[in-house]
Amino acid sequence: MAARDADYRPALTQALESSLAYLDSLGERPVGVSTTLAEMREALAIPLAEDGVDAERVIMDLVAASDPGIVASSGGRFYAWVIGGSLPAAIAADWMVSTWDQNAGAYACSPAAATVEEAAAGWLKELLGLPAEVSCGFVTGCNMANTTCLAAARHALLARREWDVERQGLAGSPPIRVLTSPAVHGSLVRAARFVGLGTDAIIKLEADDRDQLRPEALEAALRESDQPTIVLLQAGDINIAAFDDFAMLIPLAKKHGAWVHIDGAFGLWAAVSANYRHLVAGVELADSWATDGHKWLNVPYDCGYAFVRDTEAHRASMGLMTAYVDISEDAREATSWNPEWSRRARGFPTYAAIRQLGRKGVEAMIDRCCRHCLALTEGIGGLPGVEILWRPHLNQGLVRFGDSDEETDRVIAASHTHGGAFFTGTVWRGQRAMRISVCNWQTTDADVEVAIQTVGEILTAGS
Ligand SMILES: *Cc1c(COP(=O)(O)O)cnc(C)c1O
Repeated sequence: MAARDADYRPALTQALESSLAYLDSLGERPVGVSTTLAEMREALAIPLAEDGVDAERVIMDLVAASDPGIVASSGGRFYAWVIGGSLPAAIAADWMVSTWDQNAGAYACSPAAATVEEAAAGWLKELLGLPAEVSCGFVTGCNMANTTCLAAARHALLARREWDVERQGLAGSPPIRVLTSPAVHGSLVRAARFVGLGTDAIIKLEADDRDQLRPEALEAALRESDQPTIVLLQAGDINIAAFDDFAMLIPLAKKHGAWVHIDGAFGLWAAVSANYRHLVAGVELADSWATDGHKWLNVPYDCGYAFVRDTEAHRASMGLMTAYVDISEDAREATSWNPEWSRRARGFPTYAAIRQLGRKGVEAMIDRCCRHCLALTEGIGGLPGVEILWRPHLNQGLVRFGDSDEETDRVIAASHTHGGAFFTGTVWRGQRAMRISVCNWQTTDADVEVAIQTVGEILTAGS
């Protein structure tokens, strides 16, 4: 064998064995960690060494030192934030991405990466029920997908006012306002900062008792001013998976010349299921959409998608205009669609995940997560002193303990050290609540039982 083989094999073999050992441990492993920051620093923040170490030893040491600080969020008993696991084909494809080490910025750097992204983008549009002709950027996550879409919106809205924002910048431009609801995600507020709109431009209009933006409130705001306007709608917010009424609101916004953007980090995936598709009715009418692969599609981090109807606005805001790369007229040039130049070939895991599952498999995964979320919410809701604040209509439920913020916080905190299941909290309608968020393909009925039992034990221990 070539020397090269000998150089790579020990470290890669070590990584394979450590990976399999970790994945095998997920069923039994405590979900949270019991380490402290001081212990993690002690183990990992070691002095810079003059001399190197065998690659295999580097991996062994790294795995051993990191293990106490690894949260089992890739397993089936983690219900915090909105965090998916990783499908086998997606993890393996992600390894290949590192092995091939392609720069997926340009077709010329990697015809395979560009073509896989093109194919995966087509599959995503079909799965999510988006128009076939919209452009798609593969970005690091939904925060950057929201940013990319807002940059395209900024371009299009200002171009209509004879303002070339890419050339002239924002100083002196007609100010853009952003109309949305209180359910808007923090990443959109951040995106508004990144693209120079400023957080003062965001106007949170009134929502109803299902956290949906009220049509009367939107209509009144649209009538109030003919300023360039972005309407930000929500496909699944992080508290209750609130969905705005797209079929009603989008035509209204369009009538007033607004750009409609939809944040559907996980909620856009409702479109793949016959049981939940009604939640996104009319979603295809929007101008841009942001969603994640690393949440509900269960591919490894980092993976988000930005879709834009006005492909010229998308390209004008993101495109890389340099002389030293030949931009192909025919093939996909990723630099036209996302805010990076050199970049990871993040289309491969998406391609692999969708191939592993097929359309039916993706639908079954979404349905299963929703079923587990309902069972968890009802199971925990059936324990003494527990109130169900939101019975899930998708994959997000809310419960509260002992009608008390303190008791709710105690249960959440205890779940981080108990090991059986892991939850986080929120404030909803002025009260602390525990979120029950299910996004992982691995969660089973048995995991749900263990999680309900875990909360039962935490309640007993505190009484
Ligand atoms: C997670 C999330 C985001 C941000 O996505 P990242 O992938 O973390 O960047 C935006 N909106 C909603 C509704 C989310 O749940």
